Amino acid sequence: MRPGAAAALAACALALGACGGAPGAAPHRPPAAAAPGAAGGGARWRPYRGPVPILEYHPIQPPIPGSPYPQLFVPQADFTAQMKWLAAHGYTAVTLDRVEAAWYRGGELPPKPVVITFDDGYRSQFVAAFPVLQHFHWPGVLDLKAKGSDLPAADVRRMLAAGWELASHTIHHLDLTTLGGAALRREIAGSKRELERRFGVPVDNFCYPAGRYDAAAIADLRRAGYRGATTEIYGLADRSHRYTLARIEVEYADRLAGFVRKLRAARPQ
Ligand SMILES: [Zn+2]
Repeated sequence: MRPGAAAALAACALALGACGGAPGAAPHRPPAAAAPGAAGGGARWRPYRGPVPILEYHPIQPPIPGSPYPQLFVPQADFTAQMKWLAAHGYTAVTLDRVEAAWYRGGELPPKPVVITFDDGYRSQFVAAFPVLQHFHWPGVLDLKAKGSDLPAADVRRMLAAGWELASHTIHHLDLTTLGGAALRREIAGSKRELERRFGVPVDNFCYPAGRYDAAAIADLRRAGYRGATTEIYGLADRSHRYTLARIEVEYADRLAGFVRKLRAARPQ
């Protein structure tokens, strides 16, 4: 645990404790038998094939001094405020798997679905983001690189047990447009095999490192059996772009106001 992580967790508990308007126990995945009209913040789930916002987060903590990318850090208090805003405005977080079931296989979604993705695999995503999403009974999507993450496997397993989706973010987090042949297959098909073997869950989705992709990468994704892939293109994800899904990247400077602005301004890709 990083210094300050325990303090951050305590602060989270306080912040959430002060959140009077938390939704009731709305399960993020309705029981199969009750899927039509099952609870999702009390609202009815229904067939839906329209665009969906996919949020993109990195570490959930204040920037580490000297970090080359301080804008990628979102402090836990800001993350909590953003999640509370979503809940207060009728959003329900779901996995990307569930969105794809609605887009391509007749499944159902709550009225305002949102997907919350966490890239790379940072310890703070378990320490600071997981408890906040647990408070809302919401799953996240963990875009995990198979090597070099500082998120312990035991933490990943707890997130998966709570309904999170595991997606591949390659093995070594390389720019895929610089690779080809066996090296590209290893990062794409190899990471899927490795993560599925390690965690015993299906890995259906993929996230391009730094959002970099090309036609060869997409062809390998199809061959490896992935169902979809996320980029860093800004916008609302649309079912017609299954291997180049847009996301909304949340950054340090956004706080709550910028977060709301980005979400409201996003248009279908
Ligand atoms: Zn990444």
